Amino acid sequence: MRLLLQSFIRVGRKEPFRKSSHWVPCSQVSGMRGYASESDITASAMVYSNYGQPSQVLKWHSYRLPALTPDTVHVKFLASPINPADVNMIQGAYPIKPTFQELGDDKVAVGGNEGLAEVIAVGENVKTLKKGDQVVMASTGYGTWRTHAAGSPNDFQLLPKVNDDNKISLIQKATITVNPCTAYRMLKDFVDLKPGDYVIQNAANSAVGQAVIQIAKAWNLRTINVVRNRLNIDELRQSLTDLGATHVVTDEELGKAESKKQIKSWFAEKSPLLGLNCVGGKAATEMARYLGNHGHYVTYGAMSRQPLSLPASLLIFKDVHFHGFWVSKWAEKHTPEERYAMFEDILELMSQGKLQEPKWRKVNWEEETMKQAVDQGISGFGSGKQIILF
Ligand code: NDP
Repeated sequence: MRLLLQSFIRVGRKEPFRKSSHWVPCSQVSGMRGYASESDITASAMVYSNYGQPSQVLKWHSYRLPALTPDTVHVKFLASPINPADVNMIQGAYPIKPTFQELGDDKVAVGGNEGLAEVIAVGENVKTLKKGDQVVMASTGYGTWRTHAAGSPNDFQLLPKVNDDNKISLIQKATITVNPCTAYRMLKDFVDLKPGDYVIQNAANSAVGQAVIQIAKAWNLRTINVVRNRLNIDELRQSLTDLGATHVVTDEELGKAESKKQIKSWFAEKSPLLGLNCVGGKAATEMARYLGNHGHYVTYGAMSRQPLSLPASLLIFKDVHFHGFWVSKWAEKHTPEERYAMFEDILELMSQGKLQEPKWRKVNWEEETMKQAVDQGISGFGSGKQIILF
């Protein structure tokens, strides 16, 4: 995995008064202003040196950005979300482990995986990016909770410019790589869906779920959207319907005889061939029963933390196929050109108003606010996605 902390001050062998390559906190280099290995940009980052509860392990760190070299770029972060996976990563419960880099006596990783940055300087040999370009991270694991970074242009991927680019918000761009891309791939890669076909999904009010609803609508697909019951369920039903949901049901309704009959009447003989599961547990098993013969059931999350049990009948008599999907793995296995083409499609939908920005709330770039925000990182409907604006 790419080194997370390329933008910390790396003290190289050419510097006469330091022996080895390591990261130096700003406080230790305050007397080095103007020295060739550092720029005059002071950056800050939320870092951690141990896994654990975010508010207990995250700490604020300031440092000088290394000087630009002919082969590197400097970027300034504009906005970075706090996603559930970021929290899992800090807890040490995510399959991708960050690389902890030396920082003084400590070893730290920068939090965050997704974000939008602007290129503010490029070295003379860099041809793939230019000043002013907007970029996202080339792969998962590049810490995005920081104000600036310096690194190889290959650490970043250019976002395409589409017609009416000015209609796309900063928030939409900062959250493009995880949720909209996950929704896009799951709708495209498992079943050759035709206009009018049904897709059934749970956690339909999640950021991924909302992207599924909107992309499906833009592609003339119909959706059955499962959410957990709540006090303001009618408000939630309405908000998802406004986004383009064909039907909204609660997980309790999935298993009840009378509502079951009604749900089945919606698609009559044309049962959904694609199911998207973000939750697991009993309700996810119930949802799988709605799939038609030879359907595909894609699990991409496990929000209930309950295992997914699969009735043998679905495998034996209906030939339902069960898959997992992970957008990080997809990006790893596909070329930057394929990813760029997907970004173009998604940005087009955004610029046409067919894929709106997620419900979100601002997180101020301050140590205590950040710690609290990351602790609450799994937010859901109501509070909206937390996004740091730098
Ligand atoms: P959001 O914060 O936008 O939404 C969280 C969703 O989870 C809400 O719908 C919420 O519903 C639901 N939820 C929370 N707790 C539970 C629970 N105990 N039981 C059932 N539902 C629950 O999250 P994202 O859309 O950003 O991510 C959703 C999930 O998808 C996460 O697990 C994330 O890691 C995963 N994901 C996976 C990807 C992949 O490539 N595999 C890519 C992107 C996301 P409610 O309103 O009822 O609380």
